[in-house]
Amino acid sequence: MEPRDLSAHTVYRAGRGIEEVARELGLDPDDMVKLASNENMFGPSPDAVEAIRGSAERMHSYPKASHADLVEELAELWDVTPAQVWLSNGGDGALDCLARAMLDPGQEVLVPSPGFAYYAMSARYHHGEVNEYTLSKADDFAQTADTVLKDYDGERIVYLTSPHNPTGAEFSTDAVRTIAEETDEQTLVVVDEAYGEFSEEPSKRPLLDDRDDVALLRTFSKAYGLAGIRLGYAVVPEDWADAYARINTPFSASELACRAGLAALDDDEHVERSVETATWARQYLSEELNAPTWDSAGNFVLAEVGDASAVADAAQERGVIIRDCSSFGLPECIRITCGTREDTERAVSVLNEVIEVVE
Ligand code: PMP
Repeated sequence: MEPRDLSAHTVYRAGRGIEEVARELGLDPDDMVKLASNENMFGPSPDAVEAIRGSAERMHSYPKASHADLVEELAELWDVTPAQVWLSNGGDGALDCLARAMLDPGQEVLVPSPGFAYYAMSARYHHGEVNEYTLSKADDFAQTADTVLKDYDGERIVYLTSPHNPTGAEFSTDAVRTIAEETDEQTLVVVDEAYGEFSEEPSKRPLLDDRDDVALLRTFSKAYGLAGIRLGYAVVPEDWADAYARINTPFSASELACRAGLAALDDDEHVERSVETATWARQYLSEELNAPTWDSAGNFVLAEVGDASAVADAAQERGVIIRDCSSFGLPECIRITCGTREDTERAVSVLNEVIEVVE
């Protein structure tokens, strides 16, 4: 027997770890730098590590049913009710929950192109059909209300990414409001703020005060340095009271993840240091890299290098792993994650050498 027809589904391209790449190239993983997955190069908050250690011995028990303490702290942070916080297995899990809660079979969603692959994937898992709106390179990938509305055709969910992966572009709050206003009442606008901490733009959260068709996505994977623990959440409209309880996978956020998340939330210093260094690195990359770059509000920078695959391969052989953006439909671009000062400087020096050789 076989699974159902999965030919319309794509495979999530998770970046390879340093150990794997080092083994293949015969290099020492300690000599390599990975700036390819927009992770936090300072690692997790030490307080989160402590919390993980401290809770390890209780792992024979199922998670506390509601993770009430973390949910309450997040609800306070965003000034919403606890029922509006949908904890999940990473931001990806939140996208799953939203698609599962919103889509009837055959309903359509609108996703950015280029853009984060999991919007389309999660919609398809839940029997949705996928349409795209185009972010134009000629227009520096600008994200305005019109960028989205020109391609909108009554879809059930519209996904916005701000800051956008991989371009770093943002939506203004006014643009998101216009999109929510101009789309049907039965269209949900999901604003993915996975990189929100790195941006100076305010969160789009205030839109939830007077609208019931906007949801946010946030994650602990980026500024909080907890990508490996898989913890994210959606902030949803107030009157969705019991939808989460009806669609959520049991215990979708682990107890370990929630203990780490709670500790990380209280470690402002760690987040501030990460954001400050990312801000420095964005500037450094745009000034020092011998390639055109786009302004970014995230912890990464997109650069145009000609043959991205050749540049990525050559940089990798020299110990620096960055992201070839071919899978985003940008085979001429690479995305470099903001690292520590030392790692970012090394990446720029290697990339400049490689860009010249590849040309
Ligand atoms: N949204 C965007 C734009 C992303 O780039 C990512 C991951 N790279 C995510 C959501 C999901 O991240 P996670 O599942 O690790 O929270």
